[in-house]
Amino acid sequence: MISGFFWIALFLAMVLLPTWLLLVAPTPSGRPFWLEFSLALGFFGMTQIAIQFVLIARFKSLTAPYGIDVILQLHRRLALVALAVILLHPLIIMIDNPSRLKLLNPLSGNWASRFALFSVFCLLVLGITSLFREKLKLNYEYWRFSHLVFAVLAIVSAQLHVSLAGLYTNIWWKQAIWVVATTAMVGLVLYLRLIKPAWQRSRQSWQVSEVRPERGDTWTLILEADGHAGMEFLPGQFAWLKLGGAFTLKEHPFSFSSSAGSRKRLEFGIKALGDFTSTIKDVQPGTPAHLDGPHGAFCIDRYPAVGYVFIAGGIGITPMLSFLRSMAERNDPRPVVLLYADRNWEDLAFREELEQLKEQLDLKLVYVLQEPPDDWQGEQGMITPEVLERNLPKELIHRNFFVCGPEPMMNAVHDTLLERGVSKACIHLERFNLV
Ligand SMILES: Cc1cc2nc3c(=O)[nH]c(=O)nc-3n(C[C@H](O)[C@H](O)[C@H](O)COP(=O)(O)OP(=O)(O)OC[C@H]3O[C@@H](n4cnc5c(N)ncnc54)[C@H](O)[C@@H]3O)c2cc1C
Repeated sequence: MISGFFWIALFLAMVLLPTWLLLVAPTPSGRPFWLEFSLALGFFGMTQIAIQFVLIARFKSLTAPYGIDVILQLHRRLALVALAVILLHPLIIMIDNPSRLKLLNPLSGNWASRFALFSVFCLLVLGITSLFREKLKLNYEYWRFSHLVFAVLAIVSAQLHVSLAGLYTNIWWKQAIWVVATTAMVGLVLYLRLIKPAWQRSRQSWQVSEVRPERGDTWTLILEADGHAGMEFLPGQFAWLKLGGAFTLKEHPFSFSSSAGSRKRLEFGIKALGDFTSTIKDVQPGTPAHLDGPHGAFCIDRYPAVGYVFIAGGIGITPMLSFLRSMAERNDPRPVVLLYADRNWEDLAFREELEQLKEQLDLKLVYVLQEPPDDWQGEQGMITPEVLERNLPKELIHRNFFVCGPEPMMNAVHDTLLERGVSKACIHLERFNLV
């Protein structure tokens, strides 16, 4: 909680301080209010853009209090606010003095305005390709790579614009603040894309030891630590996985499905749903692997409770499996209800192991099948409020709820739980579609 407040305070300081420092004398005087106002917006927007580099750098101390999905949501929203603020900056300048419209023409403008134009162009590309990535059918890896390139180009060109325009940076230390901030943000990208992977390759590499087929087009990928102490994680967390080279663009997040007690041998349950996940079945033992993790706040250990309700749809079962395997290993006596929805009985991944876990845990298992077999006696269809009503424990307070599955299911379950009086703080969601 304290670190949550710390990051909010730091965020406000980072947003406001650089703009406030511009007011320290010497400042230009006698210029129209709207010109000054638009400059303040420009600097404010640029600071916000710089903050986006920090948000996506996956600093665990920053992401842990909120969860990485919340941080990415924040990134998305703040970046749009920053873009809007930055667009207002030239707009106000042009309305204030229409003769400045000529600066929009790169041929008739000066270098300061050309860098500004290029920076805005990069920001627009970033905004459009992010908002409409799926509609534009952009491959995720190439989108992510281009996102980094355009973000670096945007901030470097914005910095060149600020330096060349020379307004409010006419004294060495004001100039230095912006140059240092921009260099630090570019440095963060280099750290994330080059330095961190190089460190992972030399100190924290893994090897695929087995790929085990499961039901429902799902494979368990098993990694063994390659000469190091392994990775300490909490049940329910996830890691970004790279197979092959540490510098590959293909990096995908997967929840640990193994028990948190096993640090040197990690398991991931992966469903073949797209171009990367469909290749898992062909991965050969011995293939080098690299992990960036652990990440995420979807963990039972963070939310102690008298009992738990886990609600999984499809491959959303993987973090629940880690919960249950960890609880079984720890001889945890607390009661658990698991509602597990999928298409049919044959494709219900890990069901044999779940049945076995019932013998070790105080576990009630409820399967909800969309296409049940003819003799099916259990729940069928979707996880509706009625299904929840029939299967949730009568006493809901002091329980914590963990939900992971398709987006519509998660939203519906979340709303139903709130309607039934469960506190928002006791409902934890893991969204597999981060981007
Ligand atoms: C926190 C978290 C935990 C997850 N845990 C599991 C798990 O345990 N088992 C499992 O099978 N799946 C899990 N996923 C989903 C898994 O990451 C995606 O299914 C996988 O990345 C899709 O890649 P693809 O190339 O096969 O599919 P594609 O068809 O290329 O992508 C489908 C969609 O998945 C998303 N996606 C693709 N690549 C990435 C990426 N590199 N990073 C983030 N999102 C991406 C995009 O929204 C994309 O539109 C998890 C996702 C998250 C965010």
